[in-house]
Amino acid sequence: MPLVCGHEFSGRVIDAGDDVTGLNIGDLVTVPPLIPCNACDRCREGQFSLCQDYDYFGSRRDGAYTEVVLSPASNVLKVPDGVDPVAAAMTDPAAIALHALRKTKLTIGSTAAVVGAGPIGLFAIQFARLAGATTIVALDVSDAKLAMARQAGADAVFFDATDALDEYPDGFDVVFESAGVSVAENAAVRLCAPQGDAVFVGIPLTDVPISVDNYSHFLRQEVSLHGSWNSFSAPWPGTEWTDTLHLFASGQLTWQFMVTHDLPVTEVPRMMQALADRSEHSSKVIFRPVAS
Ligand SMILES: [Zn+2]
Repeated sequence: MPLVCGHEFSGRVIDAGDDVTGLNIGDLVTVPPLIPCNACDRCREGQFSLCQDYDYFGSRRDGAYTEVVLSPASNVLKVPDGVDPVAAAMTDPAAIALHALRKTKLTIGSTAAVVGAGPIGLFAIQFARLAGATTIVALDVSDAKLAMARQAGADAVFFDATDALDEYPDGFDVVFESAGVSVAENAAVRLCAPQGDAVFVGIPLTDVPISVDNYSHFLRQEVSLHGSWNSFSAPWPGTEWTDTLHLFASGQLTWQFMVTHDLPVTEVPRMMQALADRSEHSSKVIFRPVAS
């Protein structure tokens, strides 16, 4: 406190510095939340997600649960025509899914499993389809989230890895994990086909023990495990962002079905409490600014 949270957002330009070019008042823009230092070794390599001295909207500087956000012009990304402002605010979670999938060998004809059907997993399902995956399944412990996975295009949905492997005993070429809990990490490892890839996006809050059986599967089947962090590449902010925006503009990437709440920003405290209590189903929660 008193930092303003909120790091996935879009807005319209209301003012710009005298030396800013390429932006006009009224332009719809989205803002990559990480501000790279552009000086460390990782930044020099174009690995902005791994910047060693970054700033960040909503955790290290004021974010978007407010009316007006001040950003360096280099973090302001103009949104193509035809993209809804709500979609533009969802560019970050979509780009995170794309950044992670690009670490795998996903290609035309791949089979894929997505473990965890929150917004990032729902985008991963769609990107896997766009990349040419023939079979895509989703796993989650929530019926409501599995219903959304179907809407995202999953061919089949399951509550756990055992059920999925009953139907798909060969496993999956690519597994995308976005739940961040031990049962999901174990499922992701076990669901990999021989020499399959798993990429981990979910952030666990406790230790992640791996069962001896799943560890053995990792060894004997020569599974590759990838960590993935943030959503950026060179040139800044990366094709994860620009490709996502173009797919929103063309309608190939859908988002409307994920929005479970569309609320004034004054509802942030109540909604955060509801999320903590798990007292109502939610996927993507949109907060709109309220003029003061
Ligand atoms: Zn850096």
